[in-house]
Amino acid sequence: MDMDTLDLQSVRQLNDVDLNGKTVLIRVDFNVPMHDGRVTNASRIEASLPTIRQVLAANAAVILLSHRGRPTEGTKTDALSLAPIAPVLQTYLQRPVQFINDWRAGVTLQPGEVALLENCRFNRGEKANDPQLAQQLAALADVFVMDAFGVIHRQQASTYGIAQCAPVACAGPLLCLELASLTKALDHPQPPMLAIVGGAKVSTKLTLLTRLLDRVDQLIVGGGIANTFIAAQGYSIGKSLYEADLVDEARRLLERAKQSGKDFPLPTDVVVAEQFDAQARPMIKPVDQVTAQEMILDIGPQTAQRLSQYLHQAKTIVWNGPVGVFEWPAFANGTQVLAQAIADSDAFSLAGGGDTIAAIDQFGVREQISYISTGGGAFLTLLEGHIPPTVKVLYKCADVV
Ligand code: AMP
Repeated sequence: MDMDTLDLQSVRQLNDVDLNGKTVLIRVDFNVPMHDGRVTNASRIEASLPTIRQVLAANAAVILLSHRGRPTEGTKTDALSLAPIAPVLQTYLQRPVQFINDWRAGVTLQPGEVALLENCRFNRGEKANDPQLAQQLAALADVFVMDAFGVIHRQQASTYGIAQCAPVACAGPLLCLELASLTKALDHPQPPMLAIVGGAKVSTKLTLLTRLLDRVDQLIVGGGIANTFIAAQGYSIGKSLYEADLVDEARRLLERAKQSGKDFPLPTDVVVAEQFDAQARPMIKPVDQVTAQEMILDIGPQTAQRLSQYLHQAKTIVWNGPVGVFEWPAFANGTQVLAQAIADSDAFSLAGGGDTIAAIDQFGVREQISYISTGGGAFLTLLEGHIPPTVKVLYKCADVV
């Protein structure tokens, strides 16, 4: 089954479930940044509030379950504890939030009450989807709500196992919104559809490139990924980041694009430097004149303008990954020009991934992107066309799973 058949109507949603008087366990994503035991960015907590409020308004009790960071299972550390989140939530919800360090001792709540469990990745067996752990977590509540899109690609005890064991499992509103936006961009795209895939390495995005090539009218690559394609065209790329073992694969993709009449525009000019350094002197060069001492760190201005033309004509745009070392001002122009072209376009634009969101914020275009996915790995998994088991387990008819 692939993205073509993801039908949100077949997924059980929060509105389909009777919550009155029930205890509802919500798997949220509170993987928030903290400094000195204080939450420094609460946007993920804020995003979960409508779901929590909806459940409380239905006269139910709420148990919240989340991961944070990547602790060693079985070892609790203060640095990755969720304890500092309880007072933050309490302020938002205007009601007490119990922090439960040892949930195995039992969690008893009345309708309207809220509890937050300790980091689920401290539990032994979380990553391996231990059935006993999943069963114990599921037994805490009458209803399980999966609302953590960021971990939808992970088949773990707090995501998949618990949904399998829970008396009733459904998708929360945040998850449904993410799935609906991805479905809109991928299943029913208004043509022409264009994808930008940037970032460091082809190897991490090879499946994505291959799958997207089937769907899009134009595929734009950037960053270290473009360097491998530039090498596949036979140009010297000097000391640039690239993957020699994927040059043949890149050549095959270019050939496939040509045969199927897809545009795969590669840089005609590039910004190079002699060191990988923020202070390195940038030089603009035609793509066929990169010397052995140089490395490509951005697309050139002529390329950025040409790609902007494609973006202005597109009706659906999917964006993952920067096209240069956008963190350094000297090599940020290409990503900035494309970000602005996406912002100016009237296409449905969908963007996701940590670096992409950082670039969107750096260039101040957040409000002009139609939908920004909160997930990194989860976003890529769905873009690749896979419906994760963690979504399938939420289907209304279990035999679809
Ligand atoms: P990824 O995690 O694969 O999306 O890669 C994002 C990172 O790739 C960012 O930190 C960029 O600075 C980096 N990057 C983009 N273009 C280049 C390039 N031409 N050479 C080296 N690194 C790059």
